Amino acid sequence: MKDIFTNKFTDQVSLTHDHLVPQIFTYLKDHEKEIEGSAYHIIESARNYNSFNAFEKLMHEYDLSSSEGIVLMCLAEALLRIPDNKTINDLIEDKIPKGQWKNHIKNENNIFVNISSIAFLMTGKILKQDDLKTTDIFMSVLKNISTPVLRSVIKQSINILAKQFIFEKDIKRASKLSLKLEDSIYAYSFDKLSEGARTYQDSNKYFENYKNAITFIGETSSQKKHSISIKLSALHPRYERNKIELLRKELLPKLFEIIELAKNVNVDICFDAEEADRLNISLILLNYILDSNIIDNDYSGLGIAVQAYQQRSIFVLEWLDTKLNIVNKKMNVRLVKGAYWDTEIKLAQEKGLENYPVFTKKFITDLSYLKCAHILEGSNNIFPQFATHNAFTIAYVQKLFENKPHEFQKLHGMGDEIYNHFKNTNNFSCRVYAPVGGYNDLLPYLVRRLLENGANTSFIHQLNKKNINSEALHRSPLSKLHKIDQNQIYKPQNIFPDRKNSIGVDLTEEENIEIFSNLQNIDNINATSVINGVDKITSITADIFSPYDINKIIGQACYADEKIINEAIDSLSLYSKEWKNSSLDKRIKIVNQFANLLESNYHLLVSCCVKEAGKTIHDSIADIREAIDFCRYYAVEAKKIFIEQHLPGPTGEKNIYQLKAKGLTCVISPWNFPIAIFVGQLIAALVCGNVTIAKPAEQTSYLSYVIFKLLLKAGLPQNAAALILGRGEKIGPKIFTNQNLQNVVFTGSLETAKIIQKQLHARDDLINFIAETGGLNCLIADSSALTEHVVEDVINSAFNSAGQRCSACRILCIEENVYEKTLSMLKGAVDTLKVSSPELISTDIGPVIDHKAKEKITNHINSFAKKYQTSSTNNHQGYFVNPTIIEINNLTDVKEEIFGPVLHVLSYSSKNLIELCIQIDSLNYGLTLGIHSRIDRVIDTVIKNTNVGNTYINRNIVGAVVGSQPFGGHHKSGTGPKAGGPEYLKKFCYEYSVSNNIVAMGGNVDLLSNVTD
Ligand SMILES: Cc1cc2nc3c(=O)[nH]c(=O)nc-3n(C[C@H](O)[C@H](O)[C@H](O)COP(=O)(O)OP(=O)(O)OC[C@H]3O[C@@H](n4cnc5c(N)ncnc54)[C@H](O)[C@@H]3O)c2cc1C
Repeated sequence: MKDIFTNKFTDQVSLTHDHLVPQIFTYLKDHEKEIEGSAYHIIESARNYNSFNAFEKLMHEYDLSSSEGIVLMCLAEALLRIPDNKTINDLIEDKIPKGQWKNHIKNENNIFVNISSIAFLMTGKILKQDDLKTTDIFMSVLKNISTPVLRSVIKQSINILAKQFIFEKDIKRASKLSLKLEDSIYAYSFDKLSEGARTYQDSNKYFENYKNAITFIGETSSQKKHSISIKLSALHPRYERNKIELLRKELLPKLFEIIELAKNVNVDICFDAEEADRLNISLILLNYILDSNIIDNDYSGLGIAVQAYQQRSIFVLEWLDTKLNIVNKKMNVRLVKGAYWDTEIKLAQEKGLENYPVFTKKFITDLSYLKCAHILEGSNNIFPQFATHNAFTIAYVQKLFENKPHEFQKLHGMGDEIYNHFKNTNNFSCRVYAPVGGYNDLLPYLVRRLLENGANTSFIHQLNKKNINSEALHRSPLSKLHKIDQNQIYKPQNIFPDRKNSIGVDLTEEENIEIFSNLQNIDNINATSVINGVDKITSITADIFSPYDINKIIGQACYADEKIINEAIDSLSLYSKEWKNSSLDKRIKIVNQFANLLESNYHLLVSCCVKEAGKTIHDSIADIREAIDFCRYYAVEAKKIFIEQHLPGPTGEKNIYQLKAKGLTCVISPWNFPIAIFVGQLIAALVCGNVTIAKPAEQTSYLSYVIFKLLLKAGLPQNAAALILGRGEKIGPKIFTNQNLQNVVFTGSLETAKIIQKQLHARDDLINFIAETGGLNCLIADSSALTEHVVEDVINSAFNSAGQRCSACRILCIEENVYEKTLSMLKGAVDTLKVSSPELISTDIGPVIDHKAKEKITNHINSFAKKYQTSSTNNHQGYFVNPTIIEINNLTDVKEEIFGPVLHVLSYSSKNLIELCIQIDSLNYGLTLGIHSRIDRVIDTVIKNTNVGNTYINRNIVGAVVGSQPFGGHHKSGTGPKAGGPEYLKKFCYEYSVSNNIVAMGGNVDLLSNVTD
């Protein structure tokens, strides 16, 4: 499997030239004309096919690049799952007016599209009734219909759209229908509609459904051999690579049970292919299955889907063929191109991966598919199933396999026009992927199909475009090879125009898993303050230990005394002018070098962060990435703000405006982001030219010491910054009273921020204080939101980092009509969270930082009666708190920010939405806010009636990205400016204005020499 694991991010250009092109090129030399000819006939026949397919007609009319297409998509995604009429009406009123429906009403014999369009139009009240004269008889029917009826017509239209993709509601009806269609060229693979399970309850339900479906299909007598498609993520709520041990224990036995059953009733099954991050897990599980005896000579009906758009697809097939040879077994492979392309691109950019796991050129995906077909053709162990609607792909495969058994596959509701061409072809077999289930389960599937039909590059989409001629569509993908370097999608590291994106670590990949499962030994460590590059030893020491292993001391921190603090201030003050006037380019170079050093020391930093701060490996990596982004972002911003500006004025005068460093700055950072915030504050101060005292939280003294040493290694002059370790309450007052101090930057609790503010007020000058504190952050979810999506984002926002983020979701406000459903799924999802040592990649929640924190959180939990807490236990001695959900009746039940894995939930009525916003506002915090809704009016109402720094719509509310989501709040949440935003650096500078009367030195030369007569 090594080739599979190492080729996830291969260079697509060399892979194409070295591995894909040669065999296809050779094959086409002899067969190109014939294949292109066949493809041309398929296309022509498809274009002449009179489809009765309502969906195709609607998609034809409403292109996804039009606003009406988008509206239709939004309605399709949400309308059918909304439980109440009011929200349905709100959604329709919100979306329909956004389209130009009138243009879609035509005199063509296209009743469904016309009725839908008129319904959309009238509901939107865009048009006066008179305007509808131009439309024919439909108008006379619809003219007098009331709005509620029209709404029901819209619902019906969307229903028809959805129905297009559902074969039948349940497996019995599906089987009955397939028997009726027995004469057609089609066999069926029934897909029990199911998306990724979020809870054990859901996964158990899907497990039973799959087993029932297999049994039923096995018992039904049919001339055709129908099969069942299975989504593995539906069978376990944590189908993730980092949960492989759990999956081996809990999922593998279920798979064995399913295969055993399928074998007994002689039904083929196929595991669907999902996101690229899940490929390794499915192959690891498959490997176990193949090594067992469950598949034998009597059963070759197990299959997997392989996605040709993944760079590794050819290696997957080569491995599988070799493996099957070794174990002497046979299997099916469904070759698909892949359905999650846009998601893969987005995820890779978000994670800063080294490259994309999928090709970024459509024609390379096509080539890869053909190359995979060649590998399958060479295999005697794999029965190939070609799932495609693309005419050239079909023609190529048909030629390649003219003497070898194979089958084609298509999706129910799509590609009828293509496969109709073969209805009289002998020995042509095609299997239909036939979703079975209710509308509720359909929606994510439906959205994928709409995207597939609407995407510009999609073959089916192009087939439906009258302006694309058949010649353009039937050509071999090799004809596009010259475009291989054109219009590349930027690699994830280059998505920002003026700086590199921080590189991430893909923890779904085997090599990284191996590396980060073995953290560096952090024992016998010593941390000290550092002044002038020298470690300062004192007699004030504190033990260092991991919050998840509190009985073991791993080192000592040496805290600064008064003498050391004074020495730091004196040394920095002495160097202040020089550093302020140093070249900006030099400072930027140091900052960028430092960023690169952080990037090349991932393993060390993760090890320290996990062991000292108790952060999980995932969270530690995110912390480092943010720090790197801060460096690169501030380096770019510094270039922008330090430009000398010439301001306009009367002639004879030169007016200059510029920013310069303030001077001695003290930055005080917290333990919860011991890398990102420590680095962000320090670098912001330094890049502007401020000599800086860095005072990190005492809980993460060693980590700051390690980072500070990297900064010196990057070339920072030794007396430009000092690291001062120690207890805040002891160190702070000694610094805050110093007259040289110009600026204080703090991130931490509101309580401490107020103490610092008070101390600064006692000075006889006025110095700037930047504080970023916590929040009582709410997330509002209405009934138009997708519950699975809400739950996923809330779990992420409330419990990641053990809830120790100032941006974390503290209160979830759920609309009353989906309250019970959401709460129940939330509890189920919380049950799947693993609370354990952060050294384990499989851990979701590590410890909280210390005894005091644990005590405060526990006391808070104990003061509520209606709560749900998971009961997981682990063997580690530490400050663990199990994730807890507390039901509250009023927002005011939560008095203060609780910094831990605790989520409060509240039910609200949609008629009180504004009231809810006002209450959120009156909590007087203003950091983050989440809204989950498909209705723009709801989103606008919430935004207008709340006052928070960072609002997130239909996503989680944590993990603000530097430069993309500048972070920081108001009121009790902080003073601003936002970290990682365009105003931040300016607060580290004073403004200077210099006005020069240039006439004083000999007259107004400029004026006199520039005027003409
Ligand atoms: C029976 C059946 C079962 C299926 N099961 C699965 C499954 O288990 N898992 C799954 O993921 N999909 C599955 N699919 C969906 C399948 O991936 C799509 O239907 C398929 O990609 C469409 O391919 P095509 O040859 O019909 O269309 P084409 O239009 O020729 O190709 C579309 C493909 O090109 C890719 N593409 C688009 N733009 C680019 C670009 N810029 N760079 C690179 N590639 C690009 C798309 O992502 C898509 O994969 C299944 C389809 C069928 C018919």
